[in-house]
Amino acid sequence: MNGHAVIIGGGIGGLLAAHALAGRFERVTILERYGYPPDSVSPAPPARRGVPQSRCLHLLMAAGAAAFDELVPGWREELVALGAHPFDASADALVRFSTGWLPRRPSGITTYACSRALLESVLRRRLSGKSTVHVREGQTVVGLLGSTLGDRVIGVHTAERYAAGERILMADLVVDASGATSTLPRWIFRLSNSARSPLHKTVVEPGTEYVSRWFHIEARHAPDWHCLSIAPSMGAALHSAMMLRAERDRWGVVLLAPPGEPLPADDVGFLDFIAGLGDGELREVLARATPVSPIHRYGPTSNRMTHYDRVTGWPAGLVAIGDSVCTLDPYFGLGMTTTARGAVLLGRYVKAVEEVSCAEFQKELALLNAEPWGLATGCDPNGRPLARDMTYVSRLYKMAPSSPQLAHALLAVHHLLRPAETLKEFAG
Ligand SMILES: Cc1cc2nc3c(=O)[nH]c(=O)nc-3n(C[C@H](O)[C@H](O)[C@H](O)COP(=O)(O)OP(=O)(O)OC[C@H]3O[C@@H](n4cnc5c(N)ncnc54)[C@H](O)[C@@H]3O)c2cc1C
Repeated sequence: MNGHAVIIGGGIGGLLAAHALAGRFERVTILERYGYPPDSVSPAPPARRGVPQSRCLHLLMAAGAAAFDELVPGWREELVALGAHPFDASADALVRFSTGWLPRRPSGITTYACSRALLESVLRRRLSGKSTVHVREGQTVVGLLGSTLGDRVIGVHTAERYAAGERILMADLVVDASGATSTLPRWIFRLSNSARSPLHKTVVEPGTEYVSRWFHIEARHAPDWHCLSIAPSMGAALHSAMMLRAERDRWGVVLLAPPGEPLPADDVGFLDFIAGLGDGELREVLARATPVSPIHRYGPTSNRMTHYDRVTGWPAGLVAIGDSVCTLDPYFGLGMTTTARGAVLLGRYVKAVEEVSCAEFQKELALLNAEPWGLATGCDPNGRPLARDMTYVSRLYKMAPSSPQLAHALLAVHHLLRPAETLKEFAG
């Protein structure tokens, strides 16, 4: 074990990358721009500056949980000890497709009802036993330090909050995990290297807007499910909703509308929107709930793939993971899972080779990200619609409410446990 790895950003990707690299580098430093909130008892789960989406419910898909397993042994037990509810994605969930409700049957697909804050807190707690990992809060990375030829990243420039001036931190590997607002493209092109090709991005913009709010529900009034997901019903407005339980009897609700459609900003509007979904269950549950947060708005959201994998002259000593590379519209809830799978790939990669080929890593990551990207956008990484027989896809969705096997298969695809192509077996 030798060398120093510096991770930019201490969100989901940064914390998981630290777990992945801890056994491989002599020292791992996470630089996080803001501070983490204390594990205090607040009415709503604590949100974190720098991660505005932390105010919204976050569902970790089963493939994401499996990726956490590879990197953070014991995380499930700790999460549950701190109040998360493990649940079966079918038996303990109410899922309405546009074509009807899915049957509730034990599926073996397990995930957790908890806040994103709790997930992050467990990832941080499980780092605290690793003496080689240091989390430095209030440290903003403002640029990369390149070798004279610009072909290698050898450190970062940092600025401390509330202190003047910049510092240099030397590194053998720099991991950009600074999320959707990453400024890595600008930093890379400031490094001298005339052989470097331009950077391309693919953007698919559904323009969906979201509002979210936290509620408290007395345990005795809680429904018999942990998660409720409502897709727009056939022929109705394209409005959707989701509700997810969290620790300490708190429940997150998120409402979605297509571009240009109004979203509620007050109590009455919130309930009216829900009434318009044609679902009595959500309305009924919220009648027993007390709001414990303001209504927060997000969007319009977009899907963005940054093609670091296609840059010729990609510098050694630098990799990027998570939303920095692939930001997905939250509709399918695949962001943390995609990020976690990238961190697993990074861990495997650095363990398998003496000198990490960062360009190769970005190529492998791009291949891995193509699947969640396809699910979230219906497009290939170049933004071209996937060649899918839509008549067949809508037939699958029509059949799912009355076919437990198909419903299970669709859930497994949504949880990234099996590729979408495997649904062809239901074509008959
Ligand atoms: C409204 C909404 C709802 C979502 N719901 C879900 C969901 O249900 N399920 C799901 O899986 N995903 C969901 N996501 C996506 C999920 O939030 C992201 O995919 C995930 O957080 C990506 O992790 P990351 O580590 O790449 O970035 P982040 O978790 O955003 O972390 C980036 C970190 O980098 C820090 N940082 C940024 N710049 C610097 C810098 N220059 N120096 C130092 N630190 C820096 C930030 O402060 C932050 O802590 C949702 C997203 C949104 C917007």
